[in-house]
Amino acid sequence: MRPSTREGDQSLITGKTRVCGIIGDPIGHTLSPAMHNAAFLKMGLDYVYLPFKVAEKDLPAAIEGLMALNIAGINVTIPHKVAVIPLLDEIDELAGYIGAVNTIVNQNGILKGYNTDASGFYHVFTANKIAVSRKKIVILGAGGAARAIAFILADKGAEITILNRSLDAAQAISERIFKTLRTEIKIGELNLQNLKFSLEEADIVVNATSLGMSPQLKETPVPARLLNERMTVVDIIYNPIQTRLLKEAEKQGAKVFNGLEMLVRQGAAAFELWTGLKASIETMRKAAGDRLSENEK
Ligand code: NAP
Repeated sequence: MRPSTREGDQSLITGKTRVCGIIGDPIGHTLSPAMHNAAFLKMGLDYVYLPFKVAEKDLPAAIEGLMALNIAGINVTIPHKVAVIPLLDEIDELAGYIGAVNTIVNQNGILKGYNTDASGFYHVFTANKIAVSRKKIVILGAGGAARAIAFILADKGAEITILNRSLDAAQAISERIFKTLRTEIKIGELNLQNLKFSLEEADIVVNATSLGMSPQLKETPVPARLLNERMTVVDIIYNPIQTRLLKEAEKQGAKVFNGLEMLVRQGAAAFELWTGLKASIETMRKAAGDRLSENEK
């Protein structure tokens, strides 16, 4: 069933309405249309934000279509964040270092790629006054989100270990970071032995795998016994809002943060790139939270 919170808003669309959206596959779970449309409405902007399900094979056609249809801006999600790069006209410096794009801006016919995941993620640390310099941080996962997270944390002086199911993806991130920042990071396979060893001394653990994401609610990347009260645990998953990992970490006394604020902040940064205006964070946060609750019903 269609959520009812914005019933009737389509009547506001005019011939001049600018179109933004998100491309990904799957896309049905996305909270971004709710967040952005609420912010456009709140700020009285003549914009609309739509979901586009784009299969991997159709990515080049979809990017050409953005130009043809004069789409103002697009978010990029799984599985296109890396593959989209060679299809764009320009890449922002940070996105180029990270090697992943989650936001595209149509600048008068030039498609430029940005990465707002990194700043969205890092906001959690600045807002909560958590220092990362020289902290031992274990990142679980080496996908598109982990690339941005590892880069920003390495740039801020953290001592990073990446554990991932496939070692080659972790290796690729480590090589990229060494090339750009001259910082060495440790890598390993995501298995019990490596988890035991690296979590013993970890200050911060970040889950950037999709383990624990709905509908796989029973999964977790870390056995509960390896979590402790000295740790800060960040799970970038926002659906569900509290993953099994976060529940178990909280039970062990760890400080925990979910992925909703990262989602809101990366969205707000994209909104600002498209409109040139500061986004209403409160509006975006509420819309994302409301849609999440509706989806959970
Ligand atoms: P991705 O590029 O597809 O990467 C997925 C990661 O999860 C890879 O490291 C993959 O390992 C690992 N993984 C998947 N299934 C696994 C399994 N069964 N066992 C062990 N590892 C497994 O996705 P992404 O874009 O990085 O997103 C990862 C998660 O972050 C998703 O849950 C997504 O919703 C969330 N996310 C949140 C935000 C936010 O704003 N809060 C932003 C971006 C992403 P392999 O390399 O071995 O395949």
